[in-house]
Amino acid sequence: MDNEQIQAFGALVSRAQRILVISHIRPDGDAVGSLLGLGLMFEELGKEVDLVLEDGVPLVFHHLTGTDRVIRQAVGVYDLIIVVDSSDIERIGEVLDDYGEPDVNIDHHPTNTHFAKLNLVQDSAVATAEIIYDLALALSYPITLPVAEALLTGLVTDSLGFRTSNSTPRTLLIAADLMERGANLQELYRKAMLEKSIEAVRYWGQGLSRIQKEDRLVWTSLTLEDRVKADYPGRDDADLVNILSRITDTDVCIVFVEQNDGTVKVSWRAQPGFDVAQVATQFGGGGHKPAAGAEIKGDLARVEQDVLDATRKTLEASG
Ligand code: 5GP
Ligand code: MN
Repeated sequence: MDNEQIQAFGALVSRAQRILVISHIRPDGDAVGSLLGLGLMFEELGKEVDLVLEDGVPLVFHHLTGTDRVIRQAVGVYDLIIVVDSSDIERIGEVLDDYGEPDVNIDHHPTNTHFAKLNLVQDSAVATAEIIYDLALALSYPITLPVAEALLTGLVTDSLGFRTSNSTPRTLLIAADLMERGANLQELYRKAMLEKSIEAVRYWGQGLSRIQKEDRLVWTSLTLEDRVKADYPGRDDADLVNILSRITDTDVCIVFVEQNDGTVKVSWRAQPGFDVAQVATQFGGGGHKPAAGAEIKGDLARVEQDVLDATRKTLEASG
């Protein structure tokens, strides 16, 4: 993202009155934080803003200001359409089907397909929230307390509490600045990352009970039946993959989550030196070298077999 692109973005925002901001399905902390951070900043600038997440806001982020106004479908006429934290246009679901090519794409995934007219893609950023923070500083947009809380949530969740290898001194400096603006790091971290509902933990239990390990590869699955048994309301893995990634003597772990539309959501996590984004891309997904995902058509057993085969090949090539 160079200065020319930042100025181009600033000019688009200045000219626009009605702005639509969208992020991806199964939203995580960076999707929600980037969406709210940017949207609340635009409101401070006197814009009319619609915030869209096809799946709505997960409960773990309901404490953030502005979540109550997130809608599931674009409904208005807009001067400017911005997609955040989505490496391809399919990631946002079907919310833009009647609107055509988005104007701006703000993202940090190396697998980003540059699907908009203006693509602010910076893969060195630990989170999309970091790019939004940089835009705010460069363009003198107001970082109020709710904006700081939203951006810090994006930063701390995508970096898994500043543990990922792409967390830098600058990541911590940005976090420090957001704290100085009043955001409570410990509280935001606890709510977004640590607290789990009893349903989520029961759901983990289903997946953990059939965990498999073969050499340095670990995997498990979560079925639709598990979801019903645990009474878990989401269609994600409740972050189970980040639990598997703590298992010793493991290079790659995978969670398969059966969906009710004939697809399987796959999440990979890898130790440094492995590139699971490249495996995810083979299945139409994307992400980062150490963390990637894909949504794959087919039944659970078939998808498991295909994905395990492809992942084993990558492990062999890297190991
Ligand atoms: P997760 O496994 O937690 O859903 O996602 C890990 C990383 O992969 C995130 O950076 C996320 O944005 C990306 N990712 C997850 N699922 C998909 C997908 O279906 N398509 C693409 N392009 N990226 C994905
Ligand atoms: Mn992100």
